Amino acid sequence: MTPRAETLVEFRGVEKRYAAGGRAAVTRLDLTVERGEFLTLLGPSGSGKTTTLMMLAGFEAPSAGEIRLNGQSLANRPPYRRNMGVVFQNYALFPHMSVAENLAFPLGVRGIRGADAKAKVETALTLVRLDGLGHRRPDALSGGQRQRVALARALIFEPDLVLMDEPLGALDRQLREHLQSEIKRIQRALGLTVLYVTHDQSEALTLSDRIAVFADGAVQQVGSPEQIYEYPANAFVAGFVGENNMLAGTVVARQDEQCTIRLPGGQVVQATATGMIAAGDDVIAAIRPEHVETGACHPAHCNMLDTRVDELVYHGDHSRIRAGLDGGGSLVIRTPSQSGIALSDRLPVGWCADRCFAFPAAGITDASMGDRP
Ligand code: ADP
Ligand code: MG
Repeated sequence: MTPRAETLVEFRGVEKRYAAGGRAAVTRLDLTVERGEFLTLLGPSGSGKTTTLMMLAGFEAPSAGEIRLNGQSLANRPPYRRNMGVVFQNYALFPHMSVAENLAFPLGVRGIRGADAKAKVETALTLVRLDGLGHRRPDALSGGQRQRVALARALIFEPDLVLMDEPLGALDRQLREHLQSEIKRIQRALGLTVLYVTHDQSEALTLSDRIAVFADGAVQQVGSPEQIYEYPANAFVAGFVGENNMLAGTVVARQDEQCTIRLPGGQVVQATATGMIAAGDDVIAAIRPEHVETGACHPAHCNMLDTRVDELVYHGDHSRIRAGLDGGGSLVIRTPSQSGIALSDRLPVGWCADRCFAFPAAGITDASMGDRP
């Protein structure tokens, strides 16, 4: 039997309005963070992720609801008494101090000085692989090294919880991926509890034990990366996490877990029904590019559609096809590069009904997709 997870943080009915009577930046937030887990808040820009972190850190107060740490309400506890480490995208290091002095600063605030502090600074430098750079000034470091110092500074006083808000957002892709694995290594080695914020779905999938997907200030789904990716709770999550073809259609019949959907061109497809959808409802059928098969499919398992290759883009290890449907709409498909498929070809495609989810069409708006293209 696995031991029962221990709850470290609890948001209960938390809401935040920056202006009284104004729009809610965060609403109906019920979320727990378990000790030792890596939980990521994932969502488009403006969806309420930073606001959630700020309330937990104590830099913003909730307008309603309660936040608990170790079962204790945080309502009247100032930030410096919450014992949380924070790393932000542009959380400036003190420019006039050396790296070692930057790291010693949070220790000094807590009354740790002298040989104790020196030993902790050395340990922290080793942890983030910056041995020997303690004497440098921040401006003599690369962007990636500076974020390592910021990370070390957030960890050095052994906080209960580390909050990170897009800490790698300013770095280029290669460095970002390298530091992602460093953060994961350190989290595992120290058994840290991390609440991480990103708008980058691949970063969230890579790092997290669990992900909470945000849109419009509200949590859409909480689950493991696999649950979020394989079983999105609604059309927003299906469209935001990973890539999905989103086909609009109308339900003509529902049979238990399956439903039959008519597309605008008259084609009929089978999908897995989610929630309460019923005949007559407008739905979005979501099917991932990697689950669309080309050529002869097994008729018992697959939806079969006739398409035309409208676009073919070579990506080295695979090619991406935009396959136009008669009557409008198109599907993005991923195929092996050497498939022999050419532009303008007729292309039969198919997929299994259990790979395709029908979601209520309501609930996906341009606004909830944020700045994402
Ligand atoms: P995210 O971090 O997901 O991008 P934020 O929490 O920063 O989202 O913002 C959520 C909403 O709250 C946005 O509409 C944003 O404009 C608004 N907001 C954020 N900070 C403030 C603030 N200090 N004053 C007023 N509105 C704010
Ligand atoms: Mg933010």
